[in-house]
Amino acid sequence: MEIPNGVKVGVAVVALAGAGFFLWKHFSTADGDDTTFTTTPRYFSCTSNHDFTTTAAEMRQISTANAGIMICPECKAPAVEKFKCPKCSKFVDFVGHGQDPTVCPSCKAKLD
Ligand SMILES: [Zn+2]
Ligand SMILES: [Zn+2]
Repeated sequence: MEIPNGVKVGVAVVALAGAGFFLWKHFSTADGDDTTFTTTPRYFSCTSNHDFTTTAAEMRQISTANAGIMICPECKAPAVEKFKCPKCSKFVDFVGHGQDPTVCPSCKAKLD
C-alpha cells in the first residue's frame, strides 16, 4: 500500500509533538530546578581521545539511543565521562566513585 510522504511526515510530527509535550509536562511537575539539570554541561572523552561536551539532556538522549552507552558524536566510539578542570580546561578522570579530583592531574591546581 502506498502512503503519501506528506502523511508519514504528518504522523511523525504529531508523534514528536506528543512526546515533547509529555516530557515538558513531566519535567515541569518534577521537583527542583530541572532547566539547570538538563542544560548542565557534561564532559566526555571517547576511546579515540576525542573530547566533547554535551548537556545533560543531550547525554541522556545519546545514551538512551545507544542502549545506555555514551558514544562519541565524531567517531561513534564509546565515551566515558570526565571532569573538566576549571583552571586548565583539560578533561581529567574522576576519582573513586565519580568524585571530582582534589588536585588536577594535568595542571596540579588544587580543586575544591
Ligand atoms: Zn571519537
Ligand atoms: Zn587543571
